[in-house]
Amino acid sequence: MPATTHPTSETASFDAEALRADFPALEQDVYEDTPLAYLDNAASSQKPTPVIERLDTFYREENSNVHRGVHRLSQDATESYEAARESVARFLNAPDPDQIVFTRGTTEGLNLVSSTFGRMVAEEGDEILLTEMEHHSNIVPWQMLAEQVGASIEVLPVTDRGELRMDLLPEMLTDDTALVAISHVSNTLGTINPMEDVIDAAHADGVPVVVDGAQSAPHMPVDVQALDADFFVFSGHKVFGPTGIGVLYGKRELLEAMPPYQGGGDMIDQVSFEESTYDGLPHKFEAGTPNIADAVGLGTAVEYIMDMDWNAVRAHEDDVLRYATEQVGGIEGTQIVGTAPDKTSVLSFVFDDIHPYDAGTVLDREGVAVRTGHHCTQPLLKRYGLPGTIRASFAAYNTHEDVDRLVDGLHKVRHMFG
Ligand code: PLP
Repeated sequence: MPATTHPTSETASFDAEALRADFPALEQDVYEDTPLAYLDNAASSQKPTPVIERLDTFYREENSNVHRGVHRLSQDATESYEAARESVARFLNAPDPDQIVFTRGTTEGLNLVSSTFGRMVAEEGDEILLTEMEHHSNIVPWQMLAEQVGASIEVLPVTDRGELRMDLLPEMLTDDTALVAISHVSNTLGTINPMEDVIDAAHADGVPVVVDGAQSAPHMPVDVQALDADFFVFSGHKVFGPTGIGVLYGKRELLEAMPPYQGGGDMIDQVSFEESTYDGLPHKFEAGTPNIADAVGLGTAVEYIMDMDWNAVRAHEDDVLRYATEQVGGIEGTQIVGTAPDKTSVLSFVFDDIHPYDAGTVLDREGVAVRTGHHCTQPLLKRYGLPGTIRASFAAYNTHEDVDRLVDGLHKVRHMFG
């Protein structure tokens, strides 16, 4: 259980300080007498003590391989691994844990879908519809698929403020559109995309939608059934969970129709040299020994999040973003990139003609961890004519004080380079 009091009413204030106490990494000095202000959560979040302790317990007491042992430890490991799948199913409101496939992360989930489902539905002459704000993980696998089958990539543009050109969506969904792959929330702009509208429009034309939830899963309750997403992927390390573990959710009939992604142990029913048959869901997509401990840790992480009051967390994160937008935007020479009204937890900006890398290096010496560069969205940065941005990204444990540290650091940056 998080150390917060988890207020239940929308008006109750959120105790971010109490939450911070659960995250040991936040308590450190990164340089002498320089405490950490961690504002790189869109890249990876810190881990709460219950997740760290769960990994420790797993390796001390349950460590064994899953699914094939009759012995006690193997049964314990299997139980914990499958319980984590159930937790993730509840986290996404998936109808059945069988529709939750453990992957290495968002990237692997997207590659899994593109190289199995993608190969089923995309043919020569078809179009794969992406958006201009996609992460490279949601571009390159589709390009590889397009090259293999002779399809083309189409791109829904974004506005100057960083919103999707929804007015163009109907004409971009054509008879040739094989699928739409789209991020729920932009990792560079923070824009929350109108996912229901995109999915409704695509489905009205019979087009399936793959949702990259890497940046939405950490910041909002996701209901894959309400969204009617055909596929939804996210990464464990961005939701207070371990690295190297992620999730693919898919509609049952689609997952069942798809061929396996990789072959090997654990994904088969029968094997002979003439022919092999495959196991059912979800094991068909989990060849080889899975990342058992980190899946178990992810189960704890999503339970931890589900114990939080989402209304209070959202209100707090919105408040911190609003404060950061005002404070950073108020510094002469800064220009915020991504000003859509519907945003969460990401503040990207440029600062005069100071190179983002230089700014990031000075901020680091002040203990302020931000990300600089193109954030794996080169086409988006090209759209804005920028080589990169400085990106501060927030989690529930960030406070106004973290923002003040960023602002103080930016004044130092100005002093050095301005
Ligand atoms: N998609 C988005 C929107 C992301 O922000 C990220 C990570 O930053 C990814 C995909 C890739 O996630 P991972 O590197 O965990 O596979």
